[in-house]
Amino acid sequence: MLHSSHMQGTATYPIDVAAVRRDFPVLAREVNGRPLAFLDSGASSQKPRQVVEAMVDYYYSHHANVHRGAHTLAAEATQAYEEARAKVARFLGGQPSEVVFTRNTTEALNLVAGSWGRANLRAGDEVVLTVAEHHANLLPWQRLRDELGVVLRFVGLTPEQRVDLDALEAALGPRTRLVTTFHMSNVLGAINPVARIAELAHAAGALLLVDGAQGAAHLPVDVAALGADFYTLSGHKMLGPTGIGALWARRELLEGMPPYLVGGEMIRRVSLEGATWADPPKRFEAGTPSIAEAVGLGAAVDYLSAVGMANVHAHDQLLTRHALARLGALDGVTLYGPEGDDRGGIVTFEVEGVHPHDLATMLDLEGIAVRAGNHCAQPLAAALGVRATARASFYLYNTFEEVDRLASAVAAVRDRFGGPA
Ligand code: PMP
Repeated sequence: MLHSSHMQGTATYPIDVAAVRRDFPVLAREVNGRPLAFLDSGASSQKPRQVVEAMVDYYYSHHANVHRGAHTLAAEATQAYEEARAKVARFLGGQPSEVVFTRNTTEALNLVAGSWGRANLRAGDEVVLTVAEHHANLLPWQRLRDELGVVLRFVGLTPEQRVDLDALEAALGPRTRLVTTFHMSNVLGAINPVARIAELAHAAGALLLVDGAQGAAHLPVDVAALGADFYTLSGHKMLGPTGIGALWARRELLEGMPPYLVGGEMIRRVSLEGATWADPPKRFEAGTPSIAEAVGLGAAVDYLSAVGMANVHAHDQLLTRHALARLGALDGVTLYGPEGDDRGGIVTFEVEGVHPHDLATMLDLEGIAVRAGNHCAQPLAAALGVRATARASFYLYNTFEEVDRLASAVAAVRDRFGGPA
């Protein structure tokens, strides 16, 4: 797959886009009388039949609660759930015992802050993060700052809108306990040099937590090669269902962490006086988990692995370069994010004189789905000096033709409504 290429009309893609598109029924529908061009996968991806069918098969033939009871369906459900865990572990280059299922990245990040953070951080300890974090990787740390007196050190961006590594190095000190940042920015599309950041963090004696909500969906991930200590993902951004995500963490870290939620399933023994905890990952999965959703995520990981994440990334980059060239050629359009190959399938932009929400509404009339707003990164918007932007995001099922439609529609909106504010 990696070295083959696929012709579609006059375009050449690293993956067989026509075959991929046939797996996603929603892509055949129309919106406002036009073929849907779904350019909002950065918010949540569409789902292939294989994922939906895996969940249907699970519900029709195998459902029972996991880890409970000796009957056949309970054993089958448990096996399906644990197989999904093993698939996610393989996808990330880790071990099944290192993968905790959560609802999403937000919950995984809160788990690290609420469990590891509360157990290990004291007043005056420092957490280093960037101004470009998603709110999900900012608010849990602000809460620890307010409750424990943890000090947050924020790293800014270079003029090219990359994380400023010199500033990051300068922010590290003897009290730094954790560095946390995104793998790929949901606004700038920038891919962080995570392995280098891990080296810097570890040299300072700190751990590295990577917000992989975008990274796991769009880039090959090997947690060992990245040097990550914690890595998080959201199933719904990577072809899987909503309601399932994961935290990967090095085994010895998980072993030393107290439970986050407490209740059924995560205990070894309970008496009226107290309880002892199960080993990880069960220790962190209190209550009945999202079993069908985990099965769906396992199918999503199978799908992405069959295409190959290097191919997914190459495809995203081709479309991104095309979008940057087409949109960048339009007067009155401002593009955000670094120039270069260290970015994935996200293009955030502004059209002079047109509010991004109006732009997104007008694009929707053409069947083109983009996101508008501050993309859950208000401090980044402030750092960039913007209030809201429009964002087109690409995935393995998008085409050059859809990017061309976007650029033509943006040009038409600009011609009708744009101009100096
Ligand atoms: N981090 C990043 C970089 C994201 O893009 C997102 C989703 N927009 C999140 C965290 C939060 O993910 P979720 O809403 O699935 O918890």
